[in-house]
Amino acid sequence: MKIGIIGGGVSGLFSAYYLRKEGHEVTLLDKGSLDDGCSHGNAGMIVPSHIIPLAAPGMIAKGVRWMLSPTSPFYVKPRLNRDLIRWGWLFHRNATASHVERSIPVLRDLSLLSKKLYQDFANNSGIAFGWEERGLLMLYKTPEAEHEMAEEAAVANKAGIDAHVLSPQQVQDLEPETHVTVRGAVYYPGDAHIYPNQLIRQLINELRRMGVSIREHEAVTDFRLEQGRIKAVVTQAGHYEFDEVVLAAGAWSPELTKKLGLSLPLQGGKGYSFMLTEPPATVRVPAIMLEARATATPMNGHLRIAGTLEIAGTDLSVNPNRVRGIVQSVNQYYPELPVAMPATETVWRGLRPCSPDGLPYIGRVNHLRNVTLATGHGMMGVSLGPATGKLVAEVINSQAVSLPMEPFSPIRFSRT
Ligand SMILES: Cc1cc2nc3c(=O)[nH]c(=O)nc-3n(C[C@H](O)[C@H](O)[C@H](O)COP(=O)(O)OP(=O)(O)OC[C@H]3O[C@@H](n4cnc5c(N)ncnc54)[C@H](O)[C@@H]3O)c2cc1C
Repeated sequence: MKIGIIGGGVSGLFSAYYLRKEGHEVTLLDKGSLDDGCSHGNAGMIVPSHIIPLAAPGMIAKGVRWMLSPTSPFYVKPRLNRDLIRWGWLFHRNATASHVERSIPVLRDLSLLSKKLYQDFANNSGIAFGWEERGLLMLYKTPEAEHEMAEEAAVANKAGIDAHVLSPQQVQDLEPETHVTVRGAVYYPGDAHIYPNQLIRQLINELRRMGVSIREHEAVTDFRLEQGRIKAVVTQAGHYEFDEVVLAAGAWSPELTKKLGLSLPLQGGKGYSFMLTEPPATVRVPAIMLEARATATPMNGHLRIAGTLEIAGTDLSVNPNRVRGIVQSVNQYYPELPVAMPATETVWRGLRPCSPDGLPYIGRVNHLRNVTLATGHGMMGVSLGPATGKLVAEVINSQAVSLPMEPFSPIRFSRT
């Protein structure tokens, strides 16, 4: 079949990979240059530990508290915008214990499938992308966070995800080369990390080698619909006729689904990162500094610091106050790291495609026969990339799917 993929982030690229492996003729269209999007500068964590969706009880109250501080890790840019209001309402409706309970096995199975596919990819593709299985530390400094993390660790262990509560000394033992000042941590030994910039670069090279046509700087602007299917994908440069279309346009996906008659609740969740390059990274195990919601990931011999979640539509401007919030938090956990406010132009920013219930959108759009969505992965798009691509390929090939697809249905909010 002739397959068109819209979007060359991790979701689109892995979809292209698994579809091409099945012998399809694949064309990937991206509006940008595929060297700086959300799938590049992120924290690179592969997180089977993250089985609790963002929409969880307590998040609304926490979010409101955080919004009062200019350097806090969470912010919603106030806008009188119908899509944002609908998203917020759906988030609120899903921030319940029963939603969390239902989502835990769903996220766990998707994450474990993805980790397995990453392991296969690391072992068999001949592609190096910094794959390391050193686990993840959730570092905390306050009794409140300790309590929250102990509860999450118990939930994880019950769900079959290994989690260990560590004392400050046990944390220090895992980090022999730098001082860590914490009250404790939860250690998830099953997590992993990658160097995402390298993954994306290598995937693009591999796809080209496999014969995928990759067209950069070619934004999709419209569709021609005919008899319940996409007849043509219209771009700035012309139009394409495909048998099947995969829509993986990240935070911009709703702009395109609107043209297909689907109102997709999805907001861009902006985050920032920067590299600490001197001296070479001394942090061994990737970590989330819990109270600050900032991350530290050893990568390519250096350390990537990342954080914040600003619900800001598709605004890509850098807010120095939020970056300062990340910078100020690092030495509270790692007092010896030489961290200083980076020049604004060196700060990377990306838009996480956030669904309101914390589950991705993967699957068919009922009213159009030849469209499959692959977006909405929020904070876990890199982690879930291979599983997403595999499921997309299975759906398009009408094969038995590796996991039940109902929880990921792109039309699950259509009636609300
Ligand atoms: C600070 C930060 C840290 C993160 N850390 C992690 C982490 O540790 N682990 C993890 O798993 N995830 C992490 N994430 C989330 C992860 O980066 C995203 O979920 C993931 O990159 C989303 O990938 P995507 O392919 O869905 O979207 P994107 O990477 O945004 O790709 C979408 C592509 O679609 C293209 N596009 C849009 N509109 C059009 C159009 N009209 N025509 C053609 N092309 C179009 C865009 O140019 C873009 O290239 C982090 C994100 C941030 C911001």
